[in-house]
Amino acid sequence: MLILIEKFGYVPAWMASATLIFLRYLIMAGFLFFLFYYIRPAKIKKWKIQKSFPSAKKVWSEIGHSLMSALVFALFGLILALLRKHGFTAIYTDISLYGYGWLPLSFLLLFLIHDTYFYWMHRLLHRPPFFKIMHKVHHQSFNPTPWAAMSFHPLEAVLEIAIIPITALLLPMHPGVLIAFAFWSLIWNVLGHGGYELFPSGFVKHPIFKWVNTATHHNMHHLKSRGNYGLYFNFWDRIMGTNFPDYEETFEAVKRRAGASANGQSIQRNIHRKSA
Ligand SMILES: [Zn+2]
Ligand SMILES: [Zn+2]
Repeated sequence: MLILIEKFGYVPAWMASATLIFLRYLIMAGFLFFLFYYIRPAKIKKWKIQKSFPSAKKVWSEIGHSLMSALVFALFGLILALLRKHGFTAIYTDISLYGYGWLPLSFLLLFLIHDTYFYWMHRLLHRPPFFKIMHKVHHQSFNPTPWAAMSFHPLEAVLEIAIIPITALLLPMHPGVLIAFAFWSLIWNVLGHGGYELFPSGFVKHPIFKWVNTATHHNMHHLKSRGNYGLYFNFWDRIMGTNFPDYEETFEAVKRRAGASANGQSIQRNIHRKSA
């Protein structure tokens, strides 16, 4: 980023970075959308969490808001590069400074910090006036598609990305770790909004895997616009009692389903009945 700024100036560097972020999103979300919403292989089809498919208008809205998020994320990339240039961050390039072991460890720490930050920021976004001002945009997708992964109000996009430069001020991180994390986070978000449950039956009752969130978990959040607030892990939702009481049951119902036709109706009936 710094090379781009020095060579072409701030605005072209910002635009180039936003283009790369948006292209990355287009490739990842586009691949999953093509597979899940056009090809729809029989094996995967039956794992659709909600029966219905969103309108083209909704999908275009998700893509449009994601384009704005790409501009915000790139702006924060620029801010991070400038902070680093002036020596404010703990970002380092010489691996020998902290050793190879620190690379996966710093990735894990960033992962846990982001998960905790996201949970509490998300709880805040569901409170007035934040929901109406910002988070409502993301919740326009009651039945999200992979394109919803970056569909935020620009102010929410600021809150979503702000934790990265803040963490970089204190936590020593190699640029490679930051890049790997950006890819991983997007893959997780694209899958989480994909509308299909890919994890196997029993996953949410497994003593270890139950701590990992699923697409069903986030899909229920979109359907009801509350509850199930976590991102990667289920720690905070379990500690704070914010999981839907029928989360595990709904997950298993998706996995039990024989065909796409019975799909969303039974799940939505299940969710509405249990939460009524
Ligand atoms: Zn979402
Ligand atoms: Zn929400």
